[in-house]
Amino acid sequence: MRRSYTFLLRPTARQAAALTACLEDHRQLYNAALEHHRTAYAKAGVSIRYGDQSADLKHIRSGDPGGQGRWSFSSQQATLRRLDKAFAAFFDRVKAGRTPGFPRFKGRGRFDTVTWPKDGDGCRWDSQPEHPTATLVRLQGVGHVRVHRHRPVKGRVKTISVKREGNRWYVILSCDDVPAQPLPATGAAAGIDLGVASLVTTSDDEHLANPRHLAATADRLADAQRDLARKKRGSQRRRKAVARVAALHAQVRRQRLDHAHKAALALVAAYDVIVHEDLRIANMTRSASGTIERPGRNVAAKSGLNRSILDAGWGVFLTILSYKAESAGRELIAVNPADTSRTCARCGHCAKENRLTQAAFRCTACGHAAHADVNAAVNILRAGLALREAAEAA
Ligand SMILES: [Zn+2]
Repeated sequence: MRRSYTFLLRPTARQAAALTACLEDHRQLYNAALEHHRTAYAKAGVSIRYGDQSADLKHIRSGDPGGQGRWSFSSQQATLRRLDKAFAAFFDRVKAGRTPGFPRFKGRGRFDTVTWPKDGDGCRWDSQPEHPTATLVRLQGVGHVRVHRHRPVKGRVKTISVKREGNRWYVILSCDDVPAQPLPATGAAAGIDLGVASLVTTSDDEHLANPRHLAATADRLADAQRDLARKKRGSQRRRKAVARVAALHAQVRRQRLDHAHKAALALVAAYDVIVHEDLRIANMTRSASGTIERPGRNVAAKSGLNRSILDAGWGVFLTILSYKAESAGRELIAVNPADTSRTCARCGHCAKENRLTQAAFRCTACGHAAHADVNAAVNILRAGLALREAAEAA
């Protein structure tokens, strides 16, 4: 199995300055390489290949030992490959007959990640020269940086990335060969409905609500974004407002991740089989039926923005759930969510009128009454189990 870990870094002031310089030099390298691409494309209509630029990199480094030469050759190559990918995608879209935007220069604050593609090459995870109890990551040109490693790392570290978020620094490890940790069978199966007030509602009538502090941060973020929209371009106040929005975005992301981990863990511990809506299909039906049909519940209607901030957690949650399910040996099934919210879980009668309000379901045929999300989750479970049976029979 493959998985990634994100840990907070605790750099010293000097290391933080070095990390900032490292990001800045990688950004300039990216922009210089992009300029090269643009010129070649504008003058001759040709595409420069990654190999050419990688060869140039040697000269750039030897000509600038105190600048670009300080950093890992491999991390710089990874930055060039990143640009190469952006161009490959650009030319693919051109070929497909579309008119894509040319890859853009990265402004300050728009380039936040540097990747070392191989542990041991310009970087070393868990390098311990003098602190036998602390976790440190060694980064070429920066030194041994302390890591707040809040959970053990399993498997083999493959790539190491450093990311800046506001004034915090994170290290992201991508690991291979992470051993699975199967959980004992429970004999239970559940359908789950994804919502706004409750991130997850199960067919067993459990509601894993979005935490209040997440809604509160989403509120503050919505306010901050409205505030930002009123600021004049290029002004000092606007720069401050931008920083505030970025910090709140980061906070929402952390809270959402944390909550998603906890909710996924609870589900995986309780059920052998978990059935969920296929989000790709769900998003299509949702946008087709408009957002009015599923307004926020305890989320004030004042901000569609606030709602969308909370909604965006579904994809993250399902990704985390799928990792945890795989590791625990649980079965995860995605089903088409069409009609799951308007079909009676007891008699199968399907009508829009079954749905009294956002939260209340009452069947117009048999009178079955339930929380609307629980009713939907039961339908989702049933659809998943039917799929499973069909697959076993085939
Ligand atoms: Zn019914």
